[in-house]
Amino acid sequence: MSRVLHRTLFADPMLAVRGEGIYLHTADGEKIIDGSGGAAVACLGHGNARVNAAIAEQLSKVAYVHTALFTNEAAEELADVLLGDEPGGLSHAYFCSSGSEGMEAAIKLARQYFLEIGQPQRTRYIARRQGYHGNTLGALSAGGNMMRRAPYAPILSEAFSLVSPCFAYRFQRDDETDEQYVQRLADELEAEFQRLGPQNVIAFCAEPVVGATTGCVTALPGYFKKMREICDRHGALMILDEVMCGMGRTGTLHAWEQEGITPDIQIVAKGLGGGYQPIGGILIGKRIIDAFRAGSGSFMHGHTYQAHPVACAAALAVQKVIREDNLVANVRAMGERLAAGLTERLGNHRHVGDIRGRGLFQAIELVTDRATKATFDPALKLNERIKQAAFDRGLAIYPMGGTIDGKHGDHICIAPPYIATAADIDAIVERLGDAVDDAV
Ligand code: PLP
Repeated sequence: MSRVLHRTLFADPMLAVRGEGIYLHTADGEKIIDGSGGAAVACLGHGNARVNAAIAEQLSKVAYVHTALFTNEAAEELADVLLGDEPGGLSHAYFCSSGSEGMEAAIKLARQYFLEIGQPQRTRYIARRQGYHGNTLGALSAGGNMMRRAPYAPILSEAFSLVSPCFAYRFQRDDETDEQYVQRLADELEAEFQRLGPQNVIAFCAEPVVGATTGCVTALPGYFKKMREICDRHGALMILDEVMCGMGRTGTLHAWEQEGITPDIQIVAKGLGGGYQPIGGILIGKRIIDAFRAGSGSFMHGHTYQAHPVACAAALAVQKVIREDNLVANVRAMGERLAAGLTERLGNHRHVGDIRGRGLFQAIELVTDRATKATFDPALKLNERIKQAAFDRGLAIYPMGGTIDGKHGDHICIAPPYIATAADIDAIVERLGDAVDDAV
């Protein structure tokens, strides 16, 4: 047995020994399509020569410098590539090593911003049920994935309260129009601001497209605009977590572009470095930077490996490939093909309640009965069975077992690399369709 503490002690995972394009090869000689890019990470697939060369070049120059002493070329250029034209008023980046670290940094930066501008009474955050922002304690406190929170509930921060997400398939009432549902959610957020005292709220935190908990849930049109208006009315910040849905995954570089709003702080991670190195970051609005500049001048936060030269070199190369190869356009085209393929293959399946998503970020939700939308008994481990059935067909997929109103839910996320071709997408749909037929 392995001495690595894997996700379960009851079985060791397959041993991956090589990656090439959309494929992973195992020690047993299996060739598997990486259909979810791990967990929406491997946006370029595996073994990209340009990225590998950039990593090797950085290693040959300098592997590490501490940011209290030096900056490095890769970090500087990465920030320029991401923020050169100040998208949505975002002007600066802080680089760290993961999505959770990014969320922690966003939480702290937002709090310090209000100290800088003389509003120390702001101590509260509003996030959403069924959101996921990471597994460290601050990020978990902001999360609404009850399964992941439960064991640690007594040690989570009470600075966070949770409101309903926009999740039409589950929570829009039959007698409600889209506008009425969005207004109900806006009223709920406003009521939470009032309950806490609007002058006490630091930020509203949300994933533009919900990932890990409920599987690729997009908001209804107008939802984020209403949320933004409420934040603005009360002088609170909007923190958007694009760790999973960002960096081109949904068909635009940033998911918020499709919502007609801009965040004050945005968290990015998975698609930033595509898995070539561990890297995350926060993109920060100019007005926050201006406030720091007029105040203390320094963010009271930091990590030994922040802005790591090799991680930044990898991310820089990934971002250049995405731009040079026009891959976001491929995400849009292949995303449409994936959504259409899933709908054709599984749209009438009696246990597939919903197929949803945006770009190359699509999910299916499994239900016992399409009319009642009842969820499966978690003891059935349906997600795991589908995962195994897909493996048996040479497809790796990411099972998401979140919670919906306290009950277990089964979702499968398909998030292939942006380089996927039409034939790749068709193979994923075919193998997933067969796996679902087999397992459910
Ligand atoms: N935020 C979102 C939206 C995520 O999906 C994840 C990971 O799945 C995280 C944060 C945490 O990122 P990491 O696992 O890199 O710490």
